[in-house]
Amino acid sequence: MVRLTVLGGAGEIGGNKILLEDGDRRLLLDFGISFARRSRFFEEYLAPRAAAGLADLIVTGVLPAATGLYRQDLLAIGGPGVPAPHAEPAVGALLLSHAHLDHAGHLGFLDARIPTYCSAPSHGVLSVLQGVRGRAFESEFLDYLERPAFRDLRAAVGRRFELVDGEFAAGGFACRALPVDHSVPGSLAFLVRTSRGNVLYTGDVRFHGPDAADSEAMLQAAGREGVWLLLTEGTRLDVLDRRTEDDVYRECLAAVAETAGPVIADFAPRDVSRMRTFLRVARETDRVLVITAQDAYLLETLHDVDPRVPDLRREPILVLKERKQTGTYSERDYPRWERRVLARPSARTAGELRPMRDRCLLALGFWDVQNLADIGAGRDALYIRSASEAYTEEQAADERRMHNWLALLGVRRHLYSHASGHAPQPDLVRMVRALGPEVLVPVHTEVPRLWRDLLPEVAVIEPTPGVPLEW
Ligand SMILES: [Zn+2]
Repeated sequence: MVRLTVLGGAGEIGGNKILLEDGDRRLLLDFGISFARRSRFFEEYLAPRAAAGLADLIVTGVLPAATGLYRQDLLAIGGPGVPAPHAEPAVGALLLSHAHLDHAGHLGFLDARIPTYCSAPSHGVLSVLQGVRGRAFESEFLDYLERPAFRDLRAAVGRRFELVDGEFAAGGFACRALPVDHSVPGSLAFLVRTSRGNVLYTGDVRFHGPDAADSEAMLQAAGREGVWLLLTEGTRLDVLDRRTEDDVYRECLAAVAETAGPVIADFAPRDVSRMRTFLRVARETDRVLVITAQDAYLLETLHDVDPRVPDLRREPILVLKERKQTGTYSERDYPRWERRVLARPSARTAGELRPMRDRCLLALGFWDVQNLADIGAGRDALYIRSASEAYTEEQAADERRMHNWLALLGVRRHLYSHASGHAPQPDLVRMVRALGPEVLVPVHTEVPRLWRDLLPEVAVIEPTPGVPLEW
C-alpha cells in the first residue's frame, strides 16, 4: 500500500513537508518552514526559543506533532504536545528539492540519522546561509549544537548529506533527481518508484527562466518513465501572465542604458538567475556590478559546483566592504567567511564606490540601504525593484521605509521589472498534460480546487494536512 501524508504545504504556499510510505519504506519530501503559520505567532523579536526545544514550534502548529522525526536532544526537553522520544527514526531519508527556506528551513530539527539527499548547489546555499547567520536555532542546517547547549559543550553534531544527480537510492526507494528551472540554483524534481507506480514531486518549477531547458528535459524524462501520481506546486495556478527572465533583461537594459547616474537593483537574496540578468545588463552598459559580501560568498561557493554561476574572478563585479563593529574596516570586525571574501582585490568600501557610483549597478536592497546612503545616489539615479510584490504587512512596511530612504537620497526614477520563480497556469497545465498522471495531489498553492476545473481528465485529490491518502 502506498500512503501519502501532506504534513505541510496543503492549501498554502510553502511549508512543504510530505511523507511518502510504501509498505515499510518511508521518506520525506522537503521539510520547509510554513511562513504563513509561523508569522501568525512569531516575528523578528519574538522567535521560537531554543531553550524550549520544539515546544514553541509544536504548540503553534508550525511543526507537525509527528513521531519519529525529530532530534533526540530536542524531544528530550519535552513540552506540551511534543512527541515522545523514539529509538529509531520513522523515515529513511529526506529528499530536498531546493534550498529555499519554505522547503528546507526546518530540516535542522530532523533526527540527524535521517540523511538528506539534495543537489550540490542546494548544499552550497545551505552552508552559506548557516555560515552568514552564525549559530542560530532555526538555521542549523548542516550541523547543530545538542540542547541544552552549555557553554563548554562546543562540538557540533554533523548531519549526513548525499549529493545527488540522476539515479540514486534513498530510504529503500529507487529515485531519480531531475534538475528544473527555478529562482535558486540546484533545484530538483524527484521521481520516486513505488509499488503502485512512479511518483513525481515537482518541487518549485518554471519554464520561463534562463534554465528552462532543464524543466523541459525533466518533462521529457519523467514522461518517458510514466507518472502515476504527480505531486505538483501551483503557486501561480490562477495567474496567466508569462513574463520571462528575458523580458526583465530587455526592460532593465533599456532603462539602464538611458541612466546617467547610479542604478540600484533590488532583488531577492540568492536569486542567482536575477543576478546573472543584472550582470548581463552591467556588461552591456559598461557598468560594474556591485554585490554584498554575502552574495560574493554565495557565488564563490556555488561556482565550484555549478559553472552557470558567475565567476567572481572573471566578471566585472565589485564586492561592498561594509562598515562593521568598530567601523574602522579592521580585519577583526568581520567573521571568517567575510574576511576571506573581502581579501579579494575587488572589495571596495562605500567611500571608494562613491566617486565611481555613476558607473555602478548596485545590487543592494532594503537591508543594505544605509550603505546605499553612504555611497549616495542623486536625481540621475534609477531604482529597479525586481522581486515579487509585498504580500505581508511587514513586507509592505519595509517597502514604505525603502521608499522613504530613496526619497531622502533624491532618487526619483523607479522601475518595477520582475519575472516569477514559478510557472503560471498555462505552463502548469501543459506540464500535467505532458506527464499524463492518473492522480494529481496539489501542494504549495492557495487554489488547489482550480486544478479540477482546468484538468477534468485527471483525478485531483486535495490533501488535508496530516491526513494520510492511501492507494
Ligand atoms: Zn522555491
